[in-house]
Amino acid sequence: MDRRAKIVATLGPASASEEVLERLLQSGVDVVRLNMSHGNQADHRRLMQRLRRLARQQRRFVPVIVDLMGPRYRLGEVVKGPRTLTAGQEVFLGTRGRETDLPIGDRELLDHLRAGERMLIDNGMVELEILSCQADGVSTKVVHGGLVATRKGINLPDTDLPFTISEKDHSDIEFALREGADFLAVSFVGGPDDLQAVRAALRKHGGMLPLIAKLERAAVLPALDATVEASDGVMVARGDLGVEVPVHNVPVLQKKIIAAGRRVGKPVIVATQMLESMIEQPRPTRAEASDCANAVFDGADALMLSGETAAGIDPVKVVVTMSKIIVEAEAYRPPSLEDFSDRQPEPLLPGTSEQVNINPDLDKHLEIPDVVSAAAVYATHRLDVRQIVAFSQGGFTARMIARYRPRTPITVFTREPDVARRLQLVWGARPLLLEDELQHHDQVVKLVDRQLIEAELAQPGDVIIILMGVPIPDRPLTNLMRVHRVRELEKTAT
Ligand code: PEP
Repeated sequence: MDRRAKIVATLGPASASEEVLERLLQSGVDVVRLNMSHGNQADHRRLMQRLRRLARQQRRFVPVIVDLMGPRYRLGEVVKGPRTLTAGQEVFLGTRGRETDLPIGDRELLDHLRAGERMLIDNGMVELEILSCQADGVSTKVVHGGLVATRKGINLPDTDLPFTISEKDHSDIEFALREGADFLAVSFVGGPDDLQAVRAALRKHGGMLPLIAKLERAAVLPALDATVEASDGVMVARGDLGVEVPVHNVPVLQKKIIAAGRRVGKPVIVATQMLESMIEQPRPTRAEASDCANAVFDGADALMLSGETAAGIDPVKVVVTMSKIIVEAEAYRPPSLEDFSDRQPEPLLPGTSEQVNINPDLDKHLEIPDVVSAAAVYATHRLDVRQIVAFSQGGFTARMIARYRPRTPITVFTREPDVARRLQLVWGARPLLLEDELQHHDQVVKLVDRQLIEAELAQPGDVIIILMGVPIPDRPLTNLMRVHRVRELEKTAT
């Protein structure tokens, strides 16, 4: 299916079986996520091994995102069972064990709380205002009442919370490295330094992984551009974000985060409640269908499914539904050159009226591949081009091309299977493994013709654009664009 925006599916009990997983891949899942907030490492390990085997059988590259739980705070055990709080009531939360107490799971949390701050429980369903702080707890007044129960999550949108890497996170980082995960998603990032802390932890555990910053705290928003820059991709984690900031801010924040990712060529995932009602129902609400289409119109690289595929009644149907919505949205509004970013656009090429934002933040040495990528995308808007073909050592050129949103697929040849997998998160990218060692760019053209025809991705006569770095033996970044008509394969003598 010719779809550009990718689908990320969270795996869980509903998608763990061989049969469901196989059908999920067949229905178009591009990337999977393992959420370390749920389940245990042994189950995640089994799932990952099953996934790798099925992907191999289907000759697919399917990357795995291991999503760390991060510093999530929760209530402790509410001993007498769920309790209803009413507006105006005063409640003591802490470790004292009084009659009206609600227990706090993490004692260290108390050090950071201040009077006047809000405490939101259970995805913001219950809101408390902190009246005063003591060594063993906080006195609060209920602003919005509701039911509270054991282990419900606590969000603190006004509190200056440090980013911490818990023992569980360390163990899950080790797990991700050991099991060969492709990305690590970092929850509750507050800024670029938090990503550096995770990279340091990865180094300590003897490896490195690309980081997806989950943008879900109000505190990260002033540092949005720097955080995106310091990441390898970001997630609009609308679940917690919609609790930490007023929910009416979420749609505009989604657009701003996507634009920030596009400016520097970092993939952006839009997540949470995309087809939520399909956890229990066979059809989504009209609003959910529109939400998925709008994430596509906003320019997201990928749309993520959470409970829908992890615990829903029919994960395969959810993926098929999402895929159809994306295809329809993309057919209605194909990419256009005006559709780039919210920054002041600059002329794409001297003497043209077409506008494109040449990224002002890119390092100087990256300008050449960026400009060549922009030129290739411009050509797709002028010529009847079947696809752009790029060669990528680490995925950079593919991301540069994708951020300009060509009308054609981007076929990316790479020598590294792990690069091929990671490219699956990038809008429009279609990875292929490079089969031969190449020395000269005429060899490249022959090889491209052969592999594209054999993979049934092109036919003789199709116009394609090939991007490469020459001279090839020096392995420079992309500096050459060739417009080429695919040729018949030469018959080999038998
Ligand atoms: C979110 O909060 O939107 C999110 C994706 O995080 P998680 O599913 O880990 O709660």
